[in-house]
Amino acid sequence: MDHTLIYYIVIYAFIFIFGVCVGSFLNVCIYRLPKNEGLIKKNSHCMTCGEEIKRRDLIPIISWCILKGKCRACGAKISPRYTVVEALNGVLWLVTALYFDIVLYPVYIVLSCLMISALVVVFFMDWDTQLINTWVVVFIAVVAILRIIFCDFPEDLPVSSHIIGLFAASVPLMLVTLISHERAMGWGDVILMAAGGLYLGVKGILVALAIALITGSIGGLLQKHFSGNSKFAFGPYLSLGILIALFFGTAIGDWYMDFTGINNLLKDTY
Ligand SMILES: [Zn+2]
Repeated sequence: MDHTLIYYIVIYAFIFIFGVCVGSFLNVCIYRLPKNEGLIKKNSHCMTCGEEIKRRDLIPIISWCILKGKCRACGAKISPRYTVVEALNGVLWLVTALYFDIVLYPVYIVLSCLMISALVVVFFMDWDTQLINTWVVVFIAVVAILRIIFCDFPEDLPVSSHIIGLFAASVPLMLVTLISHERAMGWGDVILMAAGGLYLGVKGILVALAIALITGSIGGLLQKHFSGNSKFAFGPYLSLGILIALFFGTAIGDWYMDFTGINNLLKDTY
């Protein structure tokens, strides 16, 4: 077998496994941040019997499969969501490494993986609690600033695009928040789109907002239909929009501007 192929397989396997382990930490963030509990100090406990989970039962994904999703001490069902979050983070990291060239853009891939993990936390935490944790958004903003400072990237956006991106989606959401007295939108959504825009640039964040509005409308209708509850968190849809825009933002933006003739209009007029 070709040596470079083996080399790549080892790297990708490592990225997936490391992503799964970080996914395990994301679970801790999702459950403990809303309760203001420490992230490192305490060991994990069974939610039903309170028994401390032994170290050998803390291997991501594998332990859950071996124990068939049950607590070793009391046999209570353990939610498959822990395993879903771990696997999801591993798969997303692997996809990111495969999608962008790992030899050409290693820094970009690391920053994108950090960004994606923060979005996973926002997605599930907002889904559960309808709150977006400010520290997670601050983390996204720091990653965005690092992206602007290091520039070994697939698409080299001008700094102005990142600065305008900071306001492009967050200001409209801020107006909706103010006008609706935080009923339609919350401040968490506003700062998430500000930090996301700083990372993606103006075109990317507008695509993310469009995706969030479309999927959020469908999701909201489905939720009202099935549960009769019209109150829902918008954060998961914003995170989904940012995630999709991270990969396809420019392509979707360019396609839309060609399709609608906006590109020609701008050329003729200005
Ligand atoms: Zn138990």
